[in-house]
Amino acid sequence: MTDFKERVILITGGSRGIGRTIAESFSEDGATVIVTYRNSIEEDHFNSKGIKHFQCDVSDMKSVQAMVDSILKDYSKIDVLVNNAGITKDGLLMRMSEQDWDAVIDTNLKGVFNMTKAVTRSMMGKRYGKIINITSVVGITGNAGQANYVASKAGVIGFTKSIAKELASRNINVNAIAPGFIETEMTGRLSDEVKQSYMNMIPLKKFGKSEDIARAVKFLAGDDSDYITGQTLCVDGGIVM
Ligand code: NDP
Repeated sequence: MTDFKERVILITGGSRGIGRTIAESFSEDGATVIVTYRNSIEEDHFNSKGIKHFQCDVSDMKSVQAMVDSILKDYSKIDVLVNNAGITKDGLLMRMSEQDWDAVIDTNLKGVFNMTKAVTRSMMGKRYGKIINITSVVGITGNAGQANYVASKAGVIGFTKSIAKELASRNINVNAIAPGFIETEMTGRLSDEVKQSYMNMIPLKKFGKSEDIARAVKFLAGDDSDYITGQTLCVDGGIVM
């Protein structure tokens, strides 16, 4: 098992949902954990767990660069970056506004570019890094009513492969995780009818939990996955085969 005690782990969108579970899981292993969020965070909760937090909109390159510079000043390295921050603004194409298209692409795809670019120089210098991008199974299968979200998540898969090729010679592994239906606030907003239609597609006949994703992230962040790069691991109860 990997000892994460000396590792510095940065997780975007760590205030809630999947990101928060990932952060708490690494924190329990004694890692130095830093999370970002956009709107608000339960400061007392994160402080009590020793998890650092930064308000930083991942779609804003200047804020991202300032945050990464500050982290590097304090900790001198970032070993693991988990690009988890994401939003949905669903709607059929005919009704999708330009704003809803831009907002989703800016956070889910440009945000991954911004964060990855900002941490890469330091990782290259250290000849070590693990970058894990949270995409989605719909980035592989497509989904009616989510053209913006699916385009962003499919983009993340292509980005993952390209950056994996660029950074492999510097001992930096870049992989993606494609969750299926995970019980969080994001999916909590869906109607019972939509939830049932997702359930019908899941061979294992149960929704996933944030912990399922956190365990996969830990595998890709740890030493056991040193020979794996450029891959997309579906954690989805069997939706994509
Ligand atoms: P949540 O909505 O529960 O949490 C999203 C997190 O991202 C929050 O911490 C939020 O911060 C943060 N965030 C949103 N926009 C920005 C931004 N511009 N800059 C910085 N932080 C931001 O989402 P989930 O936990 O459900 O999802 C996490 C990831 O997993 C996403 O990328 C999502 O697309 C992906 N995913 C989720 C699935 C699911 O079933 N839940 C399925 C497949 C993929 P704040 O609270 O401040 O807004």
